[in-house]
Amino acid sequence: MPIYEYICLKCNEKFALLQSMCSADNNTECPKCSSREVKKAISSFSCATGSKDSASSSAPAPGFGGGG
Ligand SMILES: [Zn+2]
Repeated sequence: MPIYEYICLKCNEKFALLQSMCSADNNTECPKCSSREVKKAISSFSCATGSKDSASSSAPAPGFGGGG
């Protein structure tokens, strides 16, 4: 089950809830101030670009080589 992150617009509390994919427009309320003014945040596994991972060789090595 995917976890959706919500952000409370009242107290800016960030919380995650387990919701089904079909579920939409649910009456989610903040667990801190019990406010209904929450906004669904973007999932972590979604739109994950712009990673600082530029420390690799041109040719990707499948495994260890040499050193014998
Ligand atoms: Zn709140």
